[in-house]
Amino acid sequence: MNEQILEKQYESLGISKEVYAFGKKIEDSLKERFAAIDATVEYNQMKVIRAMQKNKVSAECFNISTGYGYSDLGRDTLEQVYADCFHGEDALVRPQITCGTHALALALMSNLRPGDELLSPVGKPYDTLEEVIGIRPSKGSLAEYGVTYKQVDLLADGGFDYEGIRAALNEKTKLVTIQRSKGYQTRPTLSVTRIGELISFIKGIKPDVICMVDNCYGEFVEEKEPLEAGADMIVGSLIKNPGGGLAPIGGYIVGKKECVENAAYRLTSPGLGKEVGASLGVIQSFYQGFFQAPTVVGGALKGAIFAANIYERLGFPVIPNGTESRHDIIQAVTLNSPEGLIAFCEGIQAAAPVDSYVTPEPWDMPGYDSKVIMAAGAFVQGSSIELSADGPLKPPYAVYFQGGLTWYHAKLGILMSLQKLYEQNLVNKDLLC
Ligand SMILES: *Cc1c(COP(=O)(O)O)cnc(C)c1O
Repeated sequence: MNEQILEKQYESLGISKEVYAFGKKIEDSLKERFAAIDATVEYNQMKVIRAMQKNKVSAECFNISTGYGYSDLGRDTLEQVYADCFHGEDALVRPQITCGTHALALALMSNLRPGDELLSPVGKPYDTLEEVIGIRPSKGSLAEYGVTYKQVDLLADGGFDYEGIRAALNEKTKLVTIQRSKGYQTRPTLSVTRIGELISFIKGIKPDVICMVDNCYGEFVEEKEPLEAGADMIVGSLIKNPGGGLAPIGGYIVGKKECVENAAYRLTSPGLGKEVGASLGVIQSFYQGFFQAPTVVGGALKGAIFAANIYERLGFPVIPNGTESRHDIIQAVTLNSPEGLIAFCEGIQAAAPVDSYVTPEPWDMPGYDSKVIMAAGAFVQGSSIELSADGPLKPPYAVYFQGGLTWYHAKLGILMSLQKLYEQNLVNKDLLC
């Protein structure tokens, strides 16, 4: 196709010639990296198809079950597909798991007993887990049930504090929680290889400890998943990577049979476990979303790398940087001013297929000590595998952005964010050419 036709198309959406040309230059410089991502997508697509074929996914699997949901073929088969694809003995994949935090709380609360201790050897866990664990006192926390918690922070260079971990492991340590993604921190995201190194160190000291990985934002970014590196249990949300943008709700736990069984008895009831839990009308979207997920994650990764390179070139600090290898789909960009942060989010919003006409505004959010601005125009509310951005309105004015169901939408979102900064003179225009 004629390049000018494409440029005109972007122009009709509000992208100026200068911004388009700059984006094209950056995109052209990323051909090799994008090809490597495509290869990972291809590998993971085959993995998903193989798991679906092996388990004889059929049209019958898409039937709707209601009530108790006894003998729900679609639900049971999907759990086997997840287990095979992620190399677990068993899986729990349910719409009754309401979100990622719920899945993680379920995995922890069902596998820990009073008197046990939980260890995080990778520093502070994701914000919402603080209340689950009881780091911040909360009703129903693990602390209330007599489960204690220890934490060993990462070293200043991002490495594991092996001596600290050795000292923290004791006869009470029952479960170790390892967060793969940096989440909203500035530490590096852990590769599956590094997770494997950490687990073998821990199991070398205490072989029977359960190693759980918070896999949120990590699924399908690499060819391997943490169960292949020695983890006992991986946990995540279906409105992130593995739902492929189609699952409207849900969470999963995959791993050792006993870990999954414990979780099932806690989710439903002792004695009932996995036998109940109607899939209502959502199961087809779980299958189709999982089928699409490798491609969707590839698009989101391209978007993250594109953004890193665009903003790095314009002098803004970015984490990860433009050339680093990727282990999750989150990109942080430090915009240095409230105007910059707001303009960035306005651009993401303006590029959305849904609610593009809305202007995001900073607001006071419970649990935060400053205003927060969020941009999202998603088909599934709160879905962060769809293009979305947010950041607290305080120095250094960093935006965390992730997702994009297609690479082209992610590209438009990033170009639109730059367009807004460009129009408000918040970028050095000399660096654009
Ligand atoms: C999103 C996320 C969670 C929590 O998931 P919710 O669905 O928001 O409850 C936990 N851990 C990590 C690393 C996450 O990215």
